Formats: sequence, structure tokens, C-alpha cells
Amino acid sequence: MDVDGQVIEEQLDPEREARRRLALAQIRQYPDVALRMKARPVEEFDDDLRSLVARMQRLMKEASGIGLAATQVGIIRRLFVFQPGEDEVAAIVNPEVAERSDETSVADEGCLSIQGVLVPVERSTEITLVGRNEEGEEVRYELDDIYARAAQHELDHLDGVLIIDRTTPEARREALSLLRPRIVLT
Ligand SMILES: [Zn+2]
Repeated sequence: MDVDGQVIEEQLDPEREARRRLALAQIRQYPDVALRMKARPVEEFDDDLRSLVARMQRLMKEASGIGLAATQVGIIRRLFVFQPGEDEVAAIVNPEVAERSDETSVADEGCLSIQGVLVPVERSTEITLVGRNEEGEEVRYELDDIYARAAQHELDHLDGVLIIDRTTPEARREALSLLRPRIVLT
């Protein structure tokens, strides 16, 4: 498994690829305004929240993601789904970083909302993430490596921050030129 920030790169059979495309069609794509909004805290831990989490976990899996933030499905609330480790799936509500390592690393990151772009991003190599699960219980995760990177990526989404804001000026310029809508004159 090769993970680029939020996106798992893997070879898919045609049926699985079709499902990946259907899932991506339900995820807001750059430059959708929802991706730039600062999400508000979740106040109610109810059935609506739990069905949102279930839907986001399904979309994350089908889109070959390692994480997915609520803002990416147009819900401007502070929660995301993620993998705290291999073959684990969890949700965290009102997440915060309790601790982070001084050590950082730079690696290429992709994003389910910015398809076809990979840019270098510097992140803390280890973080302690605290918040609540979808039942309202307190949770705490010690994350490192790709799992720490992905969680920091998702936290950024909750503040309307994207990988193109976190990268080098050169990589940003190149990414934006790929993303600029083509003007067609007829
Ligand atoms: Zn993303």
C-alpha cells in the first residue's frame, strides 16, 4: 500500500474503480467553497451524527482514502473519519492536537478533493490526537508516520486549509496551473 497524504494508491479492478469514481463524485472538489470554510464544533451526538460517520467511512473506503473530513462532504462541522492504524477505521469529533513532536518530515501529499495533484507538505512526525468518538466518549490516539500525517491533513480541512496552502511556492504554482479551469472559446 502506497499512501500519499489522504489518498491510497493501488491498482483496482474495473468494478472497484467504478465504485471509486462514484464515491469521488460525492466528495466536494476544489474550488468548492465548502473546502474553504472553518467548521463549527459538533454539539449533538445523535443518530444523525452516527449516520453521517457511517456514510463518510463508506465513502473514504470506496474512494481509496485514508481519511475524510466532514467539510469534504459539505458538512461544516468538526469531525473526520480516518485510519489510526492499518486496517482500523475510526471517527473523531471536535478533534484537537494535545501534543506534537518537534521532529517534522516532508512528503508528497494528495487529497480526495484535489484530484491529480501531489505536493510536498511538511508535517509533525508524531501527534497525540484527542476528541470524542461518534458516541460522545473521549478518545485519545498516539499517531505516527502516515497516520500522523493523514490526521494533520484532516485537521487542516476543518479549518479550510488545503495542501496547496502548505506546500512550497513552486509546487503551489504548478498545482494551481493544473487546477485552473480551461477557458474554451467557441
Ligand atoms: Zn484532503
